[in-house]
Amino acid sequence: MTTTAAGRSELRPRALNQYVLKVHSRCDLACDHCYVYEHADQSWRVRPREIAPETVDAAATRIAEHAHRHGLARVHLVLHGGEPLLLGPVRLAAVLTRLRAVIEPVAELDLRMQSNGVLLTPRLCELLVAHGVQVGISLDGDATANDRHRRFAGGASSHAAVRRALALLRRPEYRHSYAGILCTIDVRNDPIRVYEALLAEAPPRIDLLLPHATWNAPPPRPGGAATPYADWLLRIYRRWVRDGRPVGIRLFDSLLASGAGGRSGAESVGLDPSDLAVVETDGAWELADSMKTAYDGAAGIGLDVFRHPADAVVSHPEFIGSQRGLARLCPTCRRCPVVAQCGGGLRAHRYSDTGGFDNPSVYCADLKELIISINRETPPPGAARARPPATPADHDPDLPLDGVPAEGLLDDIGAGHGSAASLRRLADAQLGYVRGLVVELAGRVAGTPTAAAWELLARLDEEAADALSATFAHPYLRRWARLCLAPPAGETADPAQLAGLAASAAVRAGIEAELEVPLRAGLVHLPGLGAVELDEPGERHALLALAGGGLTARAGRSAVSVPSTAVMAPPAGGQGLPAGHASTAGWRPVRRVELDGSPILVEDLDPYRDCYEWPATPRLAPAALASWQRSLAAAWQRIRRDAPGQVPGLRAGLRAVTPLRADPTGRLRSATSRDAFGVVGTVEARPDALAVLLVHEFQHVKLGAVLDLTLLFDPAYPDRLRVPWRDTPRPLEGALQGTYAHLAVADVWRARPGPEAGEHYRRYRDWTAGAIDALVATGALTGHGTRFVRRMGETLHSWPAARRGDER
Ligand code: SF4
Ligand code: SF4
Repeated sequence: MTTTAAGRSELRPRALNQYVLKVHSRCDLACDHCYVYEHADQSWRVRPREIAPETVDAAATRIAEHAHRHGLARVHLVLHGGEPLLLGPVRLAAVLTRLRAVIEPVAELDLRMQSNGVLLTPRLCELLVAHGVQVGISLDGDATANDRHRRFAGGASSHAAVRRALALLRRPEYRHSYAGILCTIDVRNDPIRVYEALLAEAPPRIDLLLPHATWNAPPPRPGGAATPYADWLLRIYRRWVRDGRPVGIRLFDSLLASGAGGRSGAESVGLDPSDLAVVETDGAWELADSMKTAYDGAAGIGLDVFRHPADAVVSHPEFIGSQRGLARLCPTCRRCPVVAQCGGGLRAHRYSDTGGFDNPSVYCADLKELIISINRETPPPGAARARPPATPADHDPDLPLDGVPAEGLLDDIGAGHGSAASLRRLADAQLGYVRGLVVELAGRVAGTPTAAAWELLARLDEEAADALSATFAHPYLRRWARLCLAPPAGETADPAQLAGLAASAAVRAGIEAELEVPLRAGLVHLPGLGAVELDEPGERHALLALAGGGLTARAGRSAVSVPSTAVMAPPAGGQGLPAGHASTAGWRPVRRVELDGSPILVEDLDPYRDCYEWPATPRLAPAALASWQRSLAAAWQRIRRDAPGQVPGLRAGLRAVTPLRADPTGRLRSATSRDAFGVVGTVEARPDALAVLLVHEFQHVKLGAVLDLTLLFDPAYPDRLRVPWRDTPRPLEGALQGTYAHLAVADVWRARPGPEAGEHYRRYRDWTAGAIDALVATGALTGHGTRFVRRMGETLHSWPAARRGDER
């Protein structure tokens, strides 16, 4: 399955938003490791030396029309070669002017260039700055390392010329055109000297590239070492970590991000879909440049910008075939425990004449060793990484969230509410995390009958990505997967339920399939849809036949058929039972309540829902369900009235309410679980009280999801904090959670009428203010934690100490 920020789906991008434009097909250097001139593909020989103005126009027009058609706000374009600076300042300026003139009216244009830097001059720097172009420079390390490959045709060193270019880009007036350094690895070079040489150039970012190789032409392994590339990279990694990660190193950042369940953000590792196409100097559309290393013509797809729009590229079989994703990997990679981070490496590196691309990477051993070592060696500060599987925050307290600057999200959630966009982002991260867990689980079911379910999921990932994402968004999947992978004492979960998951996704997709699924306590559970009842107490499995969105389940002598109209039926009339509920014997559908048009599950069916301090209710009888639906609808109206700022976040993030058993003494109960994003567990209560419980608990949902992305405090902080709402001191996380929840509760009481509400407001406001001060005084907040708590304080201090007319 592919990981994307928008839900780890899409093996096939719907739109391209990254382009490489070859503006010159020759080079002033003659590097012997160059994939353009020295590898299998030799198409450069028949290309025009320079791109013609009409080719620039046609390419820009195609990019603009594609951005327009797909509503893209931003496209990324890298000028490439050969060496793009060979164009010279006049023609380069003409190309840049034309690109901006055609594309910018439609979409913001992020313009970049990859250059060897040899020809860079102040005049060119001024041009690049004026046109807003960021430049990456190729440098392989110190003089010894760089001159091993990067030489002029006559053999002369390019090192001094490249360093001159880097010195130019470091000047304050050109600095913001400095994108970073791209370094191709040669394991004969000392890694620490290479690292130090690159760091000395003060690059904003470093790319460390494995030299292109295939199974036909494997990379050199001096001395026959088993994993020389991993060993080389790990020496830099360890030093980089010791140095406090002074600069982003894309390969490491990507592995850390994907290891935490996010996007890799890289072409070379991970399972992100590719949305990149290349335009050659003759206007030919091509696949990613690295393909040139596989065989002559491997990057070509027979399309060009004069005759074919970018949509034709996206739907071209070769382009689709070149996409990343589990379904396109060989069986070895699909079963690999680190596949979510590795993704089989670069596609070109998997090529062999005999197996095509259906192989692990020629760097497989190195990638595996590198990833496993990084995962093992990167615990969060102050905490042992002993609780597998790790949560997404387990690597870096101040890591930019999911590759996007974290501050906006932290500010938005920290202020107390959270926009719909922020909640979607948290939901996407959770989805990615769940999918990562499922990928890990797939490795555990290899060789069992459940492996067929994994094959079906991989197929669905390709054919029905939306249905798969909708299934993976079911709130209790994370708990199920974590219990399977690392069950705490006394708890178990059934990995075979992977088949129930696949069946649920296949039903949503309307795909035909037959699966063996677990039958537990007489039920076959289809997450997010419902459960089939089969009265066969002696059976542990059922056979499920799926077709056209309906299903038939068989076990022993029992059989139940459920038509698609019953399985996928929407809630009738907003608050009633799903159509078909009463009429389909043996089918227990999930049930919902619609709050302002958003369907929320009333979750009384999922077998993994009982994860709170208080027990969940059993399946609600129809009258009880109707009462819950009325209570929730009334509570929602109170939230709209009293806490309108919470409404967008709740609408985007609240997926389910799990009814809890009432306390015999009548005390209110409510709860959330980090393993159930978007769910509030609560007892039924009067609307005013239920509204407060929902708002209070949803704060925990949001903060828990933020804590999955980044550490806000030192988890090893030993002391407990006194908080006014509890008799006993609380651990730091508990105090932070309570403070954040009470901020929202104060907000509700702030708006409610009446002196009693004023009293509640003052109390919650004072509690929150005192707790914020106490949190700050611990000195244990990370940079993100400080920012988050500061935002809470800003919101609180924007409110009056007491409401007008309520003053004591
Ligand atoms: S500078 Fe780049 S394009 Fe030119 S020969 Fe070297 S690797 Fe190839
Ligand atoms: S480590 Fe090897 S087997 Fe695993 S995904 Fe990467 S290339 Fe495939």
